[in-house]
Amino acid sequence: MTSPPGTGSAVLTVRNVSKVYAGGVTALDDVSLTIRAGELLAIVGRSGSGKSTLLNIMGTLDRPTGGTVWIGDQDAAQLSDRTLSALRGRWLGFVFQHFHLTDGLTAEENVATGLLYSGVPRRRRQPMAVTALDRVGLAHRTRHLPHQLSGGERQRVAIARALVNEPALVLADEPTGALDTANGQSVLHLLTQLNSEGTTIAVITHDRDIAARLPRRIEMCDGRRVVTDSHPEASLTPGGDA
Ligand code: ADP
Ligand code: MG
Repeated sequence: MTSPPGTGSAVLTVRNVSKVYAGGVTALDDVSLTIRAGELLAIVGRSGSGKSTLLNIMGTLDRPTGGTVWIGDQDAAQLSDRTLSALRGRWLGFVFQHFHLTDGLTAEENVATGLLYSGVPRRRRQPMAVTALDRVGLAHRTRHLPHQLSGGERQRVAIARALVNEPALVLADEPTGALDTANGQSVLHLLTQLNSEGTTIAVITHDRDIAARLPRRIEMCDGRRVVTDSHPEASLTPGGDA
């Protein structure tokens, strides 16, 4: 299996990816991009521009109808479902707009579910979950249930779950979309801090103000990538940097 990437190496590459849904909607049309270790980037565009479709394909939760997705140096299409799930469990962490926490589990139990498919022995999962909750500022909330937490705290638990296995890349789909401004800012600040500690993060957002605060932006419009990328390599290769 692929070993963890060094700083600057390609963590995930999308090459000429298209997605046509059953019914004929073209959600993605020839999109290419490379995410490198250590980056914090925004994928920004209006509602319906194809961002969630792109995230699902980058996260190998869905397959493209054209093009290729590389996780490190492995072509996802060449892997069996079993190998792909194992790779996804080890390499990728997911954060969603509506947190997707399990109601009956405490914060630490929710975070520990991020280790279910990682091969980490059961006895090590709880201390790792507590460490991850500490990293997101929730050391004092480990035994709380989701309904006992604020929206901002719930999203921090979801971020801890995404981080607990130290993935090569965290994919966050509208992570501040269900939060008020103050909690949204705080979650964005947390993501920036985690990135400065070495975590590679892609934030999907429709919010231009949020995108403007991140070091790199990839802009989507009608399923295509608009090349206004602030990243140096984009200007060298118009139409995609893969
Ligand atoms: P965004 O996240 O930027 O709002 P999406 O990726 O969710 O955009 O959607 C892009 C386009 O694909 C939209 O026109 C949407 O209606 C369509 N779409 C998304 N998911 C599906 C699906 N499962 N089946 C058919 N069309 C879909
Ligand atoms: Mg979306």
